[in-house]
Amino acid sequence: MSFFTESQEQSLFKLYGRDAQYAENIDFFKNSFEQFLSKEIAPHAYQNDMEEVFPAESFKKLGELGFIGMPFPEEYEGMSLPFPYYCAGLESLAKADAGFALGVAIHGTVTDGILHYASPEIKRQYLADIISGRKIAAFGLTETTSGSDAQSMSTSYKYDPQTKEYILNGTKYWITNGMSAEVFFIMARNQDGKVSAFVIDKKGKGTFEQHKILDKMGVRSSNTAELVFQDYRVPEYCLVGEHGKGFKYAMRMLNGGRITIAAWCTGIAQGAYEKLLKYAHERKLFGKLLKDLDNTKKELSEMMIEIYASRELYQHAAFYKEDEKTVAQNAAIAKVKATEASVHIAERAIQLAGGYGYVRDSRIERHLRDALLGRIGEGANEVLKIVVIPRVIYQEFEKKPLINIW
Ligand SMILES: Cc1cc2nc3c(=O)[nH]c(=O)nc-3n(C[C@H](O)[C@H](O)[C@H](O)COP(=O)(O)OP(=O)(O)OC[C@H]3O[C@@H](n4cnc5c(N)ncnc54)[C@H](O)[C@@H]3O)c2cc1C
Repeated sequence: MSFFTESQEQSLFKLYGRDAQYAENIDFFKNSFEQFLSKEIAPHAYQNDMEEVFPAESFKKLGELGFIGMPFPEEYEGMSLPFPYYCAGLESLAKADAGFALGVAIHGTVTDGILHYASPEIKRQYLADIISGRKIAAFGLTETTSGSDAQSMSTSYKYDPQTKEYILNGTKYWITNGMSAEVFFIMARNQDGKVSAFVIDKKGKGTFEQHKILDKMGVRSSNTAELVFQDYRVPEYCLVGEHGKGFKYAMRMLNGGRITIAAWCTGIAQGAYEKLLKYAHERKLFGKLLKDLDNTKKELSEMMIEIYASRELYQHAAFYKEDEKTVAQNAAIAKVKATEASVHIAERAIQLAGGYGYVRDSRIERHLRDALLGRIGEGANEVLKIVVIPRVIYQEFEKKPLINIW
């Protein structure tokens, strides 16, 4: 009796496409990328966090280096490299400066959306600039009164047939990159309740204001803004894809976004873990090093296991990002796991470092403040656990009867 078909047998060794060569490539890439980050990004992270500075120049540098465009097509100045490599890079970037990395990740989500859904005219106008990092992009879905319940948005649009323009009115809130972006992916509703997406810039007619949201608890080196539109007119080619499909596009983009947030949180967790690991090799107590206490060994092991699990889940989800059937569940599972793990690991790292972990100078506490956003943004974990993941569990159960072997 054979368990597999002949062609399945031939492809078995390629499980997930993640062979020894892949592991070697990822290692090589992460190593050289982290050399760069240790010189160019990490040394400024503390100050940027304190002063709430988004390092726009570093964004440009990452663009010149090719990282911003890594998973995007060469025809638009990208590198056409597989998405899992890009996610591995985001993990490292978040370890160095999670606030900055959040801006990079969301920029990537917008780029992906434009690539998949926008008209040739939008692509021609914006893609090369955002893929190369010359311009920054922002994603505008949330409003003060609609977050998890995003469909209840009140930002409106209507079409003016005389001028062939769309007119936007309303306010978006919590928009990452909102102050520095030049390209905006905005969702709005018409009077029939249909949600459409628009890619706009600041050259339209009417009012488009950006107000910085100050004093966030974490991700302070990302810039977050309120965007206000008053009779803001944009050309009709700014409509993304089909009229009324904006919400669907946004949800699909968020699948990719959740994978990047899972990678991002894995980087935060890794940062907290490494700082604790180093400190445990230096701190003496009861005539021993902190690392030699049984509890420290146990906690470091648990952290390492959680980080491995988070990394495996986001890498798996990244490999299958273009598989429409499984991406929503893979992304939600990876996002929930990595975000919960990062909060737990950052909190435990502070505890094990004692008083030193509790002061800013240790650079450990920043990881907890940053990690807490992961559970809220890109679909609060409660929504994923109560709505998205159970849908998959029940569908599977109903579609494929369990084989009773108990
Ligand atoms: C720093 C930062 C950056 C952000 N960047 C962006 C961005 O770039 N673009 C953008 O569009 N948005 C952005 N957001 C918004 C973010 O996506 C929302 O904050 C998130 O979707 C949650 O919405 P809310 O804050 O309105 O919380 P609410 O929707 O008011 O939810 C509050 C809480 O209720 C619980 N909850 C919600 N729904 C359910 C449910 N169905 N069942 C059970 N419990 C539930 C959850 O615990 C949730 O945290 C950002 C937010 C922050 C804080």
